[in-house]
Amino acid sequence: MAKIQAPVQRGQVVHVTAADLTHEGKGVAKVDGYPLFIEGMLPDEAGEVEVTKLNKGYGFAQLKKLEQASPERVDPPCPVYDECGGCQVQHLSYNGQMDMKYNQVRGVIDRIAKLPDVPVHPVLGMDEPWRYRNKAQVPVGLSGGRIVAGFYKKRSHDIIDMTECLIQHEESDAIIQRVKDVCAANGVMPYDEQRHKGVLRHVMARIGYQTGEKMAVLITRTSELPNAKEIIDGIRAAVPGITSIVQNVNPDKTNVIFGPTTKTLYGEDVIYDTIGGVKFAISARSFYQVNPVQTEVLYNKALQYAGLTGEETVIDAYCGIGTISLFLAQKAKQVYGVEIVPQAIEDARQNAELNGITNAYFEAGKAEEVIPNWYKQGIKPDVIVVDPPRKGCDEALLATILKMKPKKVVYVSCNPGTLARDLRILEDGGYRTREVQPVDMFPQTVHVEAVAVLELM
Ligand code: SAH
Repeated sequence: MAKIQAPVQRGQVVHVTAADLTHEGKGVAKVDGYPLFIEGMLPDEAGEVEVTKLNKGYGFAQLKKLEQASPERVDPPCPVYDECGGCQVQHLSYNGQMDMKYNQVRGVIDRIAKLPDVPVHPVLGMDEPWRYRNKAQVPVGLSGGRIVAGFYKKRSHDIIDMTECLIQHEESDAIIQRVKDVCAANGVMPYDEQRHKGVLRHVMARIGYQTGEKMAVLITRTSELPNAKEIIDGIRAAVPGITSIVQNVNPDKTNVIFGPTTKTLYGEDVIYDTIGGVKFAISARSFYQVNPVQTEVLYNKALQYAGLTGEETVIDAYCGIGTISLFLAQKAKQVYGVEIVPQAIEDARQNAELNGITNAYFEAGKAEEVIPNWYKQGIKPDVIVVDPPRKGCDEALLATILKMKPKKVVYVSCNPGTLARDLRILEDGGYRTREVQPVDMFPQTVHVEAVAVLELM
C-alpha cells in the first residue's frame, strides 16, 4: 500500500475524533486516511489537536482541547501522572485497560499468528489494580538546595521529587522517604550526575508480600558512606521491622543503576518471599517478578496448561531464578532450567535447596545452545515452557523444539507481537495452539503478558 502524504502541516490545529488506541496507549485519529498518534486521547473522543511531527505515512499531535470525553475516561489518581511516564493508561478505566489489552492480544493472534479461530480468553486482571509492585528504585539528586528522590521527568534527566507512587507497596514509599530524610539529616550529599560528585545515587526498596520482610538498598558513588552508623540507626528507627539494609557501590559515570560491589550494612543479605508455596531468597541484585499476586495467577495458568501428572520431564527455557521451574517441579518428575545470567542460575540452585526440591537441574547458558546439547544427551521433555524476553524465542531454539517434539509447549510472553510470530513458526512445524490467556501483570501501564498452550498434532 502506498504511504499516504500528510494532509496536514506541522503546527496546524485540527479537529479530530480518535478511533483506536496503539499498544503504547496513544489515541489514533485519521485525517483523510492519514493517522495521527495523540498522547492522552482515547477511542471515541473528539477534540482539537496540534500537529507536532510528520513522518511518511503517519504523524504525531498534541491534545489541545478535549471536546468529547470517552465514558471510559477517568481522572488519573496520581498527581504526577503526566510528568512521570512510568504509567501510560491511568486516564483509562480499569475495564477499558482490560479491553485494550485483550484487543492487542486478539489482534496479533489474528493478524500475525493467523489464528482467528484460536480462543483468546478475557484478561485476568487484579481486584485491586494499585500498590502491586514489590520493588521500587528511584534516582536521588539535588534540586533547589534540597535532596530529592523520585523519577526522571519524561525524556529528561531532571529528577522530580515524589512522596508516593500508587503502583508501589506503601512500605516502599515509606522506605524511600525515610532513607532520603535520614541521609539528608546526616549530611549525605546526593549524587550530581553532571559533575560526577556526591554520594547517594539511587534508593531501592524491596518488600516480601507474603513475609512482610523489607529491604532498603543505598546505591552510592563512593564506597565510604559518611556517618554510616547514624544512618543505619536512623533508618532502623524510622522504618520499624526493616530486615535488611544494603549498600551497593557504583563508582562509574553511567546510567546503569548498580555497581559491582554490594555489602550488607544491617540484618540479612536477602529478603524472603513465597509464590505458590515456593520460597525465594531475594538479594539486592536478584531478578524477581515485580507483581507477586499476578505472578501466581500466571504460573497457575502455565501449570494448568502443562497438565502435569508427576511423570513428566519438563524444560523451562529462559528460567531466570527458577521461579517457574520450581513451581512446576512440585508436580513434575524432573525439571531442567536454562538461563543466560549465571548469577540467576546460582539463585535458582539455592532456591531449589531452600525448598528441598531435588528434581530440578539448572544450567547457565543460552537456551538455544544448552537445549540442543541436552537433546544430544538424550533428554526427552514431555513439556517445554518458554518465557523469553521481549524479542521472543531465538529461531534456533524454535527449530530445536520442533526436533525434540515435546507433546506440549507452554509459551509465557511479555510481548504479544513476538508471541504471535513464534506461534506461527510452531504451527508451521506441526503444533496447534489450543488457547491463549492474557494476564494483567502491570495495571496502569501498557504492558501485556500472555500464556499460550500448544500441542503436537
Ligand atoms: N521465567 C523467569 C524469567 C523470565 S524473563 C521468571 O518467570 O521469573 C526472561 C529471562 O531470559 C531473563 O532472565 C533473561 O536473562 C533470560 N535470557 C535472555 N536471553 C536468553 C537466552 N538466549 N538464553 C537463555 N536465557 C535468556
